Amino acid sequence: MSIRENIKEVLISEEQIRNRCKELGEEITRDYGEAGVTPLVIGLLRGSVPFLSELIKYIDLDLQYDFMDVTSYEGTKSTGDIKILKDLDTSVVGKHILIVEDIVDTGRTLTAVVDLFKKREAADVKIVSLLNKPSRRVMRIEPDYNGFDIEDYFVVGYGLDFNQHYRGLPYVGILNDDQY
Ligand code: 5GP
Repeated sequence: MSIRENIKEVLISEEQIRNRCKELGEEITRDYGEAGVTPLVIGLLRGSVPFLSELIKYIDLDLQYDFMDVTSYEGTKSTGDIKILKDLDTSVVGKHILIVEDIVDTGRTLTAVVDLFKKREAADVKIVSLLNKPSRRVMRIEPDYNGFDIEDYFVVGYGLDFNQHYRGLPYVGILNDDQY
């Protein structure tokens, strides 16, 4: 059976994502180009991988990229503390960081990651997110570049998982109710 049968609705199609990645890539190229800097692109594992892969095709700059895996600490959620499961292999000192995230929900993860890179003396930290759920925000943080605002649905696909499944879907969708 195909896992696609478990998807109730395709919220954002493959084509919409590709078109938006092109627009975002061009915007990023222009902004960093005008500033005369090249970004160190940092993907947050694992959800950002398909988005990062598509996006960088349209960033016409001599960029570098690296990955980091972080998780929120249980029980201290309001502080936005994170545990680093896999750290960067690259120094961020003096770099223009562009964090790539799959979705900004409460904003806790990104708040903590941005603080961390600032503490590590990055020159500048910006965020690009494929999806954004503004209605769920707890922390005062917004992506500098955003693919799509969505309602408060739990979405899967294009890197986003449900218990590690569905990450490989080429679109963002909503699961059938019987899958939860
Ligand atoms: P935040 O720290 O902003 O609350 O959480 C961000 C993380 O929560 C995302 O990177 C993602 O892993 C997870 N997340 C938030 N909303 C969704 C969703 O609708 N679907 C999935 N699969 N993960 C989500």
